[in-house]
Amino acid sequence: MHELSLCQSVIETLQRESLQHHYQRVKRVRLEIGPFATVDEEALRFAFEVARSETLAEGAELEIIRSEARARCRSCSNSFAITERFDPCPLCASHELELLSGEELRIVDLQVE
Ligand SMILES: [Zn+2]
Repeated sequence: MHELSLCQSVIETLQRESLQHHYQRVKRVRLEIGPFATVDEEALRFAFEVARSETLAEGAELEIIRSEARARCRSCSNSFAITERFDPCPLCASHELELLSGEELRIVDLQVE
């Protein structure tokens, strides 16, 4: 399950950061997930529960924020929010788009003690 390895790397990041920022426990993690990230939210929540056990994030709450995807049109340089990967440009209807964001999974912030 690929969500589990994602969560394990999130936990590893938390552990690494805890040494730099001197915290012992993580109480809440906010993750931002782009609409085109290949992540299943249910699976991610389950994987997080597995990955956090016996770590500094044991019992931590997981909050998931869905970010919006943005693309830029290569024909008219318009940049806009998209909901489907193959949406056309709303101005010129071109499909020549460059995806600016939407595939990311990142830690937005933490509540620690
Ligand atoms: Zn366009």
